[in-house]
Amino acid sequence: TGSLMAGKRGLIMGVANDRSIAWGIARAVAAQGAEVAFTYQGEALEKRVRPLAESIGSSLVLPCDVADDASVDAAFATLRENWGGLDFLVHAIGFADKQYLRGRYLDTPREAFLQALDISCFSFVSVSQRAVPLMKPGGSLLTMSYLGAERVTPHYNVMGVAKAALEASVRYLAADLGGIGIRVNAISAGPIKTLAASGIGDFRYILKWNQLNSPLKRNVSIEEVGGAGLYLLSDLAAGVTGEVHHVDSGYHVVGMKAVDAPDI
Ligand code: NAD
Repeated sequence: TGSLMAGKRGLIMGVANDRSIAWGIARAVAAQGAEVAFTYQGEALEKRVRPLAESIGSSLVLPCDVADDASVDAAFATLRENWGGLDFLVHAIGFADKQYLRGRYLDTPREAFLQALDISCFSFVSVSQRAVPLMKPGGSLLTMSYLGAERVTPHYNVMGVAKAALEASVRYLAADLGGIGIRVNAISAGPIKTLAASGIGDFRYILKWNQLNSPLKRNVSIEEVGGAGLYLLSDLAAGVTGEVHHVDSGYHVVGMKAVDAPDI
């Protein structure tokens, strides 16, 4: 434990269970003295999120479905009543109908496209619209992306397109908000076995591929993403905005593996 985040209050959106990337970030910032509030989507998840929140001394646990503006408004209204201000926000939310996270991108119907882009990309804009008025200079916004935004990865399809739009949103929001001292960044995480990831076709193969072909020859943990999240949310990253920071065992730098590269 330390005090990098002492005196800072943050909202963490996207914890579903103790395997969630958002939970890795929550633990990392709480261990450095941050006070944290959580949102969850739907009653079924409240039963999982509330005990996790309580385990790190947090009692502000609010429902929020980002597809519903009234729900987002209500969550931020409650946050304002309780805290008055906000120092950081973590957006670790994504969704696409898993029927289209396999097969060809070509076959994506409009409805699935719009839903994936709405929940996985526009929601970051929407929550930022409500978070920014609560922030003062030094505020930090963070979202979660994946390599499928930059390159074709199997089955990621419409999520890859949504993440590309999300990464572009990070850059535009960074430019919008830099003048008032608010930073906006993303972490591009390597594959991690979570609830959301289980919807992606052949996910076990993707994990194995990254393990065998990344420079570090292993997959990353939510603790490691948490460490990078802590950095980007803290004043250590005061000069960093508009960035997409890879936490992926270095996989994004690999073009091809050598013929004689030893297997594990
Ligand atoms: P997760 O299932 O633990 O978290 C996804 C969260 O999104 C859940 O808490 C879910 O409730 C929330 N969500 C979905 N629709 C919502 C809605 N309408 N309103 C509010 N919340 C909603 O999985 P995760 O892997 O921790 O995902 C977190 C983020 O990390 C996602 O953006 C995901 O795309 C991204 N990511 C994941 C991986 C991976 O391999 N797991 C890699 C890179 C990026």
